[in-house]
Amino acid sequence: MLAHKAEEDGVACVEYIAGKEGHVDYDLVPGVVYTHPEVASVGKTEEQVKSLGVDYRIGKFPFLANSRAKAIDDADGLVKILAEKESDKILGVHIMAPNAGELIHEAVLAMQYGASSEDIARTVPCTSNTE
Ligand SMILES: Cc1cc2nc3c(=O)[nH]c(=O)nc-3n(C[C@H](O)[C@H](O)[C@H](O)COP(=O)(O)OP(=O)(O)OC[C@H]3O[C@@H](n4cnc5c(N)ncnc54)[C@H](O)[C@@H]3O)c2cc1C
Repeated sequence: MLAHKAEEDGVACVEYIAGKEGHVDYDLVPGVVYTHPEVASVGKTEEQVKSLGVDYRIGKFPFLANSRAKAIDDADGLVKILAEKESDKILGVHIMAPNAGELIHEAVLAMQYGASSEDIARTVPCTSNTE
């Protein structure tokens, strides 16, 4: 994990020392592996969701079907979204892509605001189109 997580730990620690409520939601701390393609994730993995006994749905999209990725000849990777079956609340997002480390922040923000997977699906992107 990055130093930004450690900063949040520090802020929460000082808030507690000051008699206030400190909080870090570790489900909303993204992780990135700086390989090529990059691997980035936030929230729960499918294995964790299964072990919690939560009913869930999976959405997967390959970069091979993304026209921008094909145009720049860098189409290895996929996006996987896990959402709670009943509420559609996003539980975890996992991305393997050349720029996964940047893309994951949209998922972090969506989860921070309690978005559903449909909220993301209905958001108009500016970076690329699917065919
Ligand atoms: C090579 C490298 C490069 C990195 N580059 C980046 C980067 O570019 N950007 C970025 O955001 N992050 C980077 N990181 C990650 C970042 O450094 C860590 O995520 C961050 O420092 C973690 O902070 P922390 O306070 O949680 O833990 P630490 O910094 O590990 O601090 C824990 C402290 O507790 C002490 N300690 C442990 N056990 C005990 C004990 N029993 N009693 C008393 N003291 C104890 C340790 O000695 C240590 O001083 C990098 C990490 C590495 C290793």
